[in-house]
Amino acid sequence: MSDLRFDNRVAIVTGAGNGLGRSHALLLASRGCKVVVNDLGGGATGSGKSSAAADQVVADIKAAGGEAVANYDSVEDGAKIVQQALDTWKRIDIVVNNAGILRDTSFQKMSPEDWDLIYRVHVLGSFRVTKAAWDHMRDAGYGRILFTASAAGIYGNFGQANYAMAKLGLVGFSNTLAIEGKKKNVLSNTIAPIAGSRLTETILPKDITDALKPEYVSPLVAWLCHESCEETGGLFEVGGGLFTKLRWERTEGKLFKLGRAISPEQVQKAWGAITDFGKATHPTDITNSMQPVLGNLQSKS
Ligand code: NAD
Repeated sequence: MSDLRFDNRVAIVTGAGNGLGRSHALLLASRGCKVVVNDLGGGATGSGKSSAAADQVVADIKAAGGEAVANYDSVEDGAKIVQQALDTWKRIDIVVNNAGILRDTSFQKMSPEDWDLIYRVHVLGSFRVTKAAWDHMRDAGYGRILFTASAAGIYGNFGQANYAMAKLGLVGFSNTLAIEGKKKNVLSNTIAPIAGSRLTETILPKDITDALKPEYVSPLVAWLCHESCEETGGLFEVGGGLFTKLRWERTEGKLFKLGRAISPEQVQKAWGAITDFGKATHPTDITNSMQPVLGNLQSKS
């Protein structure tokens, strides 16, 4: 097996001053990738800013013989981050949307600001960076985009209604970019990582956060961003040594004959069949998902 190299490739890793982003940036740079190390340098809940975190990662990359440049813009100013890649290296091949903050609180206590700030950093930030890179990737006929979701978005988690909304939103965003970018070799995937970082140190016991190294997540990021990887539209849970892929599962359900009213009582009566995963299917796209409905419409006519 030959080494997966990223020579002549240019990547933006957002939020690369700490935790997972730092680890992704170090790994890509160690494989020859030129990296824009973006980090606003604020606190875990989105307060303040500083250049120190990004500068330190750039220094670490350079000390190891790699190439990197620091960027301190918020992902909300995504166009500036992409412009820095273009100004420095005249291309952009890889975008790793990783920057993130938390504003955890029960929904009852959640303020509009808690909701908006999480949306702005995770969703709007990923949109702004990706949007600015998109046309360059399409024109070049090459691009690898990665989004960072969370198990909180997939399964829900107490105190994280805002964060879960944002994180699962990114999955739908990525799935659509995967469809729209495929012809131009612009591929898009999503990871739901688990790692010890300042975002998890307040939630998980210290021995667990120490053991869940961000370095256990980055190899998947590197593989998904490599030119030889053809995966697109994937969602992966990764961390602590585990690498897994998720997909949707749908019950066979109950198909009512059309042409007459369907009552709530009929739905109640069919509840067992509607929710029974015994004969589940795994729709992979919207056409696939509509097939039983289209079949039902035809059998009516
Ligand atoms: P972290 O706090 O160590 O790193 C996040 C980085 O993003 C910080 O350096 C921060 O300064 C930067 N950042 C925040 N807002 C920014 C902005 N507006 N613009 C630019 N940079 C900004 O956290 P982490 O655990 O490494 O998280 C990385 C990503 O992984 C986040 O999107 C997070 O939601 C996601 N995630 C992490 C875990 C986990 O277990 N650690 C689990 C699920 C998802």
